[in-house]
Amino acid sequence: MMQEVKSQLEKKGMTRRQFLRYAGAAAALLGLSEAFIPQIAEALAQAAAGKPPVIWLQGQNCTGCSISFLNSNYPEVAEVILDKLSVRYHPNVMAASGGLATGVLDDTLAKLADQFVLVLEGPIPTKENGRYCTFGVKNGKDVTYEEWVNELAPKAAAIIANGNCASYGGIPAANASVTGTTPVSGIIPKDKPLINVGGCPSNPDWIIGTVLAYLTDKKNLLANLDSFKRPKLFFGETIHENCPRRGAFDAGLFLEDWNDVNPDFELCMFKKGCKGPVTYADCPTRRWNSKVNWCVGVNAPCHGCAEPTFYEALSPLYEPLPNVNMIGLTPAVDTIGWVAAGATAVGVGAHYLAKQLGKKPEAGEE
Ligand code: SF4
Ligand code: SF4
Repeated sequence: MMQEVKSQLEKKGMTRRQFLRYAGAAAALLGLSEAFIPQIAEALAQAAAGKPPVIWLQGQNCTGCSISFLNSNYPEVAEVILDKLSVRYHPNVMAASGGLATGVLDDTLAKLADQFVLVLEGPIPTKENGRYCTFGVKNGKDVTYEEWVNELAPKAAAIIANGNCASYGGIPAANASVTGTTPVSGIIPKDKPLINVGGCPSNPDWIIGTVLAYLTDKKNLLANLDSFKRPKLFFGETIHENCPRRGAFDAGLFLEDWNDVNPDFELCMFKKGCKGPVTYADCPTRRWNSKVNWCVGVNAPCHGCAEPTFYEALSPLYEPLPNVNMIGLTPAVDTIGWVAAGATAVGVGAHYLAKQLGKKPEAGEE
């Protein structure tokens, strides 16, 4: 197997050392130690031989997740992944159009049933028989995104919902969607392996990492999803837990006005609507745009775009978390999705109240 890979790599002008370096980068992306590099190299080698086919569709979305993916932090890893996968259909990067393009979908259904991975970017508008989103023509009739999903999903080996809107409805589902916006989980067969990758957009590392995890150990990936079917690898801890402004939060030092400046440290943006306390994602450590920065790092509160409750339940974006009564210390955390707000609310309340009363919080109030 490795010999086969070696000759393929040589054809591309890539040395074995470079390939192992890619495997090392992949291990880092997955948060694995160097001990896993041989396993990842082997998985990539197998992918090279088998080329898992991928069908990537877009529906009721803005394409932002594809653009994010194409701006990957790890172009080398992305190259390996794209090179090792057979991406048969992707609206933004395929050269074909019209019947030639959609013919690939029919061909995949006919020849590669139960072998292909279906990436769905964007939810499915189901009202009016799905006619709010169509692509391709069959027998003189427009084919709806809903029809494509209904045809392809039962025959897919696994499905990745890419982005918050595909995973949970997101922005298209907010404020009484008139199009019947339905997340991927609401339309595919219940027994089909589904992985939701939230974010609006999704971080390219999350998508590449999910594909890598799928290639290296599919069972392990599926066994390590949270209750919202997100990989715990990327969505295992809250933003708040790892936020560099956590010290300011714990000290009750909040940004009250956008012009507030503290010369010594940056103020917590809880009161400016930061949803970090209830948002599970690794943005503070992974960061965005080649690890340059992330939302809180540029003075923008976390909007909670990785959460199933985004957008509607987490808006208005610049208002503090609702159901957290800071003055009365009576957090109402029964609202679905606000699970982490309980402990947070007590901490905020104690500090806020102490600050208002001009005293330090007592031990145990923190
Ligand atoms: S999750 Fe956000 S960025 Fe991604 S496609 Fe949907 S609306 Fe666009
Ligand atoms: S509320 Fe937001 S800015 Fe403040 S510590 Fe938590 S995540 Fe950071």
